[in-house]
Amino acid sequence: MYVDIKDGNMLLYNTINGEYLETAYVKNIELISQLSDFNNLGFTLLSRENQKDIRIHEFVMNILNNGMGDILDVNSTKNKPVRLIPILNLQKDVDKLIKTENNCVLIGQDIYHYLIELNIYLNSLCTKECPICDEYCKQILCCTRGADFQELPIGVLKNVFDQVSFFVPKRINLLGGDVFKYTDIDKLSDLFQNYNGSIYLYFNYKNYQIHNLLTYINIEIIINFPVDNILLEKVFSSVCMSNTTFHFVIEDEDQYNQSKMIIKNFLIEKYILNPIFNNNIEFFSENVFLKKEDIFSNVISMREIFRNQKMNANNFGTLYILPDGEVKANMNTLPLGDIKTDSLLNLIHKEMIENTAWRSIRNISPCNKCLYQWLCPPLSNYEFVIDQPNLCDIKF
Ligand code: SF4
Ligand code: SF4
Repeated sequence: MYVDIKDGNMLLYNTINGEYLETAYVKNIELISQLSDFNNLGFTLLSRENQKDIRIHEFVMNILNNGMGDILDVNSTKNKPVRLIPILNLQKDVDKLIKTENNCVLIGQDIYHYLIELNIYLNSLCTKECPICDEYCKQILCCTRGADFQELPIGVLKNVFDQVSFFVPKRINLLGGDVFKYTDIDKLSDLFQNYNGSIYLYFNYKNYQIHNLLTYINIEIIINFPVDNILLEKVFSSVCMSNTTFHFVIEDEDQYNQSKMIIKNFLIEKYILNPIFNNNIEFFSENVFLKKEDIFSNVISMREIFRNQKMNANNFGTLYILPDGEVKANMNTLPLGDIKTDSLLNLIHKEMIENTAWRSIRNISPCNKCLYQWLCPPLSNYEFVIDQPNLCDIKF
């Protein structure tokens, strides 16, 4: 059972079945505080006086009914029972790492394991003119064009792939601009030979071209609105649907309905609907902002709760390499370094120490005053872009 007490309110959450109780009655809070006291090892005496208190009685019955605890007759047990209380002691506690290791050489190769996903922007060139091109990539994984023409040299890319052949991030995503305009696109397949993870190629459907590359890597096609139906039909009739995921970029209800229609008409099986913030706050507050029932809609394990207290699962383990070589831990944060001069090992180490994104947690107001602080999903790019740490309708 997970317990949190804030500002005279208490939450009890069963991490096995997702049931929860809330109370503001001070004697209930005292009772559970005694249980949570490490010296009591999960047990406390329910006094006769407390048993007679109707509010405590009701509360204890709710605890029993929701599988959050049990009652033992003190006369039936010789010794005081013991229950192990889970405490936050992560094996790879990043704070410990920072305290004990401040030299990259000392950390050794193990730190590579933190790298789970690498997003490589090959170029910044694109001839299309999507009106909010520069907004998409700050919110979702999406192509983005630059004012200046930038391209990651194939030699630099080779160096990156040499590094990831030793410690393999699960996933490498290749993006542009327009990836098909990358000068050395035909040389990419040679680089993939020694990499054992999965490679995904992201591009806008308007930039689709038939290319050999598409026959052996995963395809991620971005569809934004307004849609060019004739062009989209051509793409659908040409790509292999089984290794393609479609990413719809949605700003309002109408675009949502159009997306559903396209999905239905073209029998699309693999798709993701991505809301995009473009000052459409009404659409966001209705469809994206969290409601209390969203938080409790799935069972949240103790592991997830502990994880939320230490790291940001949306960001942790991801690096972005931009066409000019700049490397970031999130598209909304300051650069960590330059892939032309820094090794991935150095960049991972730097992010672990500086924490631009990987460990950004809900530790600021109002989330740090909220009972659901550690049950709530990690901060996302939407909080960055909207510049509001709590995208929810919880009132205090
Ligand atoms: S296709 Fe992609 S990179 Fe090109 S303008 Fe549109 S969003 Fe930007
Ligand atoms: S205030 Fe923060 S922690 Fe609480 S529900 Fe809202 S977003 Fe989640």
